[in-house]
Amino acid sequence: MLATAIIAKKRDCLELTTEEIEFFIRGFVAQKIPNYQMSAMAMAILCRGMQPREIADLTRVMRDSGVCLSRVTDRPRVDKHSTGGLGDKTSLILAPLLACFDLDVPMLSGRGLGITGGTLDKLESIEGYRCDLSHDEINQQLRNIGCVITGTTPDIAPADKALYALRDVTGTVPSIALITASILSKKLSESLDALMLDVKWGSGAFMQTYDEAQRLAESLVNTGTQMGQRTFSLMSDMNQPLGRMVGNACEVNESLDILRGEGPSDVRDLTIALCVPLLIATGKATSSEQAVAELEKCIDQGLAMRRFQQMVESQNGKFVERLPLADEVVLECAATGIVHRMDGQRIGQSVIQLGGGRRELMDPIDHSVGLEMLVRLGDAVQAGQPWVRVFARTNDSRDAAIQTLQSSLDIR
Ligand code: URA
Repeated sequence: MLATAIIAKKRDCLELTTEEIEFFIRGFVAQKIPNYQMSAMAMAILCRGMQPREIADLTRVMRDSGVCLSRVTDRPRVDKHSTGGLGDKTSLILAPLLACFDLDVPMLSGRGLGITGGTLDKLESIEGYRCDLSHDEINQQLRNIGCVITGTTPDIAPADKALYALRDVTGTVPSIALITASILSKKLSESLDALMLDVKWGSGAFMQTYDEAQRLAESLVNTGTQMGQRTFSLMSDMNQPLGRMVGNACEVNESLDILRGEGPSDVRDLTIALCVPLLIATGKATSSEQAVAELEKCIDQGLAMRRFQQMVESQNGKFVERLPLADEVVLECAATGIVHRMDGQRIGQSVIQLGGGRRELMDPIDHSVGLEMLVRLGDAVQAGQPWVRVFARTNDSRDAAIQTLQSSLDIR
């Protein structure tokens, strides 16, 4: 087979065979197919799309470029993946919460890039927390505690690591086929019984429109199902940050609030909604109503908090009730009216300016900076009323973030 002929076939909108997809991805991982040909192929896929069968083949070859986690207990295994959004801290609550139901949750997570934060960055706000567990450490922790949140090991879906790095610099990230294969090649390496996908849409999400997000959700569920994985999806609105807190330590603190039975109801409700199909799929509940009631009880009785503490300590983290934040300043509404729109891109950008997110993959993170949103969409506000608390480390970063934030709220 010839790489150039396969690229040309996709360029001409033709369907690739299983063998062609295997040849291409295996050749790329073995460095027999150079980056420039892989980049051309990624662009052809982005422009021409792929049929569901091609996406499933791509996902399978990418997953099989590495190893899968072993199953180490008799308990059912579940996980959740979110396509990312502002203030999305549900993973921190969901993994220990599900583990309370005698489920194993081997959550392999990522870092933040762009405006959406990464679960690993959030957890690294906790002093000592390790995100680089080996397979043996993951297995041991699953046996002992039933949940782990750590980074992917180098041998999980290496094809995705190499391909994502290329997509990032060749304008080929926003392809439904490539996103589907990227997400699922990693998640299907966790050897799960059921997977929940939280597909977000809106100004603070990767997918800006509902229709785009729905296409991604359908592709993810379709591909997961074709590969024999019970897969669910839930579409969630990201036209304003989830909860009040955005930023790493800020979001850990809000997660601790939720685990204490406090905190904003949208975070709690979404976390519970994501758990419900997983409890039913694994026989831990027989109806949505029962699942919700059991999940609520588990949070309110402090069981999920205890499990979170065990997970943190098992991963070498120093568990504390509340993490320290940088100095704060409050911004006030410029007008009287109704909060009509929040510009999630600008709000996310301001967190990067504060030092709480990355412009480049290797940028350092300041965990103590972030935002607390004091108003919600649809609120009636008065000029001079506080709308956001900004946690900043330096005057320069604070001033830059304030300038960005000032044009991110539309009051009418
Ligand atoms: N997240 C991933 O893991 N891969 C993508 O391609 C996009 C988002």
